Amino acid sequence: MKTKQTVSLFLFLFSLLGFSQEYYLHCGKILDVKSGKDLVNKTIVVSKTKIIRIDDGFTTKANSKDVEIDLKNKYVLPGLIDLHVHVETVKSNRAYISKYIDNEADVALESIPYLKITLLAGFTTVRDLGGTGVNIALRNAINKGFIDGPRIFTAGKSIATTGGHADPTNGSNRKLVGDPGPKEGVINSPEEGVKAVRDRYKEGADVIKITSTGGVLSVAKSGKNPQMTIEEIKAITSTAKDYNMLTAAHAHGDEGMQRAILGGIKTIEHGTFMSDETMEMMKKYDSYLVPTIIAGKEVAHNAEIEGFYPDIVVPKAREVGPKIQSTFAKAYKKGVKIAFGTDAGVFPHGQNAKEFGYMTEVGMPAIEAIQSATTTNAMLLGMENEIGQIKPNFIADIIAVDESPLSNIKTLEKTVFVMKDGKIYKNE
Ligand SMILES: [Zn+2]
Repeated sequence: MKTKQTVSLFLFLFSLLGFSQEYYLHCGKILDVKSGKDLVNKTIVVSKTKIIRIDDGFTTKANSKDVEIDLKNKYVLPGLIDLHVHVETVKSNRAYISKYIDNEADVALESIPYLKITLLAGFTTVRDLGGTGVNIALRNAINKGFIDGPRIFTAGKSIATTGGHADPTNGSNRKLVGDPGPKEGVINSPEEGVKAVRDRYKEGADVIKITSTGGVLSVAKSGKNPQMTIEEIKAITSTAKDYNMLTAAHAHGDEGMQRAILGGIKTIEHGTFMSDETMEMMKKYDSYLVPTIIAGKEVAHNAEIEGFYPDIVVPKAREVGPKIQSTFAKAYKKGVKIAFGTDAGVFPHGQNAKEFGYMTEVGMPAIEAIQSATTTNAMLLGMENEIGQIKPNFIADIIAVDESPLSNIKTLEKTVFVMKDGKIYKNE
């Protein structure tokens, strides 16, 4: 006991003397994502997990333990946030079989490189929108420092209806897989919706994801039919509210999308066949569109590769894929609020930043695309005072690129520096 007290006294005195290691990031330009202006020649001082101050000019380290990082010729931004990823998998034809072969440990081990590549691509925070439930353990492993990856907010398992997009037993031998219920994320009444949300909470999920319409990659005929009643959706969102869980709905078809918005869902994922009326509804109900344009491009491309997807998926991929970008462009112009999200896992992890190019090429200014991946997403996650900006007292999630992303958005596809929680993961 005595030694313990002596040690903590020493640690306390050391911290008073400023002996804990600090980083001095010498930044030629910092993009202030709120104003869109460059802050020139600044030093970001990082201590432990936080940004403690931002000095004018390039200030020198306070003591010998401190480290100076030269980013004088770089553009520095806050770490990026992707609101729609699937950390456990990458879709290929094998993915349809692997769920029958792989155990949880296999899924977890396969995911480790996906997590690392996402972080090294500059995405320091992600919202995972559904998998087997291993995603919860992966989040915990990252938080404990066992593996490298972004900060994860996960849905655990998606919530679907029988035969719906995200029913994990679609296209399977019913004798082998049985009939899943709310525990596995499959519901068929408002009551079961309540149970499914509570099951997710019990398992440790952070957010709730529902599939209110059909989807492209599920083994089922329609990619857009409505698959939940509004009563079921309302039961889910009101229960999610009890647990302070952000809600997301996968939606391609217009009817299912409207039910999700009216039912109180906060973010609409994909939004493929969104009508003008639904765009107005989005604005009225303060819902956000998470476009995932890159996923649409990817499935349209893969549909032309023989055998990449099961036959039942191919026509859906051809129909839905090319439509997402034009709907996004129209929704943006109509004033629908946009939150950045990609559906990584439908395409290879780490390519998330390509989405910026797809957003800007159809009319969204670069600064607004960057805001959607920083301040907007931080706010939706309830983290607006901690992430999404470079400010004193914010978590030290900091990235750097070679050029100004406002003049060349593609520079975001090649991050040269990545810090998360005050720890450096990449410094080229
Ligand atoms: Zn998805």
